[in-house]
Amino acid sequence: MLASLYSRMALGCVEANRFLASVERLATFGLRADGGVERQALSEQEIEARKFLIGRARALGCKVEIDPCGNLFFTRAGAKLVPPVVMGSHIDTQPMGGRLDGAYGVLAGFEVLAALDDASIETSRPVTVVAWTNEEGSRFKPGAMGSGAFVEPSLLEHYQHAVGVDGVIFGEALAEARSAIEGALDCAPGFAMHAYLEAHIEQGPVLEQSGHSLAVVTGIQGVRWYEVRCQGCAAHAGTTPMSMRRDAVVLANNYLKRIVDLSGELSAQDIRITCGRWNVTPNSINTIASEALFTLDVRSPNYAGLDRFEATLEAERNMVENQALITIDRILEKAPTAFDERLQTLLARACQAATGTDPIRIMSGAFHDALHLAGHCPTAMIFVPSIGGVSHNPAEATQPDDLVLGVQALAYAVTSLAI
Ligand SMILES: [Zn+2]
Repeated sequence: MLASLYSRMALGCVEANRFLASVERLATFGLRADGGVERQALSEQEIEARKFLIGRARALGCKVEIDPCGNLFFTRAGAKLVPPVVMGSHIDTQPMGGRLDGAYGVLAGFEVLAALDDASIETSRPVTVVAWTNEEGSRFKPGAMGSGAFVEPSLLEHYQHAVGVDGVIFGEALAEARSAIEGALDCAPGFAMHAYLEAHIEQGPVLEQSGHSLAVVTGIQGVRWYEVRCQGCAAHAGTTPMSMRRDAVVLANNYLKRIVDLSGELSAQDIRITCGRWNVTPNSINTIASEALFTLDVRSPNYAGLDRFEATLEAERNMVENQALITIDRILEKAPTAFDERLQTLLARACQAATGTDPIRIMSGAFHDALHLAGHCPTAMIFVPSIGGVSHNPAEATQPDDLVLGVQALAYAVTSLAI
């Protein structure tokens, strides 16, 4: 009862103007002429943005810490020395990114800290905002390095050697960033957290189309990647009669068509398939192809969906003429993640307190830092809508009212967990 009173007080102290101004301010670091933002991981712009966050944290009286992978933690003390309630996201962007992807969750966290101050709420648990290093993976691969190395510190040794698209070594960029950032205390990765909450833009069209302002995220889809290789025999385009060819492109096309024809059925089972890459050998206009390779990206909220698709892939191959010339390799798998049920219930209550209506529940189509945190502590996410579903694009935008409602819900949930 008392918890919900304090939660409502914190929600009521979220200041729309202050929060929206902070979004504009952070966007000045790496602002592009087209209104988007380029603030790639550990770039000059991103380091300046980190300094801005540190200044803001100091003004709020927070402790500032940095772990070996460069993740920044800003902590408002609690009455007890117990694991903190943590919220956050990332401030790095794609090369042609927007103002909200990642930045929204970090700035929402800062606004919650300010609201707790304004409401004069002393929490028993510390409340921490985190900015994870290199979530996007556009400069250094893989993405979500910071949250990955926080949860599994041995990964950092491997990440140190990653070479950026600009030729810079991750370990060197990290060392440079760390020396540019003054006054942050070193902390060890992997420390205990009471809970992790991440607010994020949806980056897809589902929430906007539902007409709701907020969604509770139930988890993150699992992914499998396949390479499908179809063998043919290279021959002259003019001299080889149609009946005597072994054309790899025709074979690949026949097979892919069978799979695409099932896409309606698969979609009804929440399975999404994408054929994003084709490689044809020798890729010559007047030579019959000796090999055609295409990729499939398959996503589903659960293993059953991924397994069903894999069985379909095999079954359809057996229906194709010359099936022996087709080989299928699974080259990547990321397990589906389900977020903590109790936190989802709390977030639903928080969204209802902010908007007056029940939020929808959706599965995230994209990866987030919360994916790694889900293996570390109870974790959940809130989405706000993306206008037109647009993201990783300078035009990325969300209605300001929706942005603020998301911060209010976050304030409610964090207070309830920390009080
Ligand atoms: Zn993001």
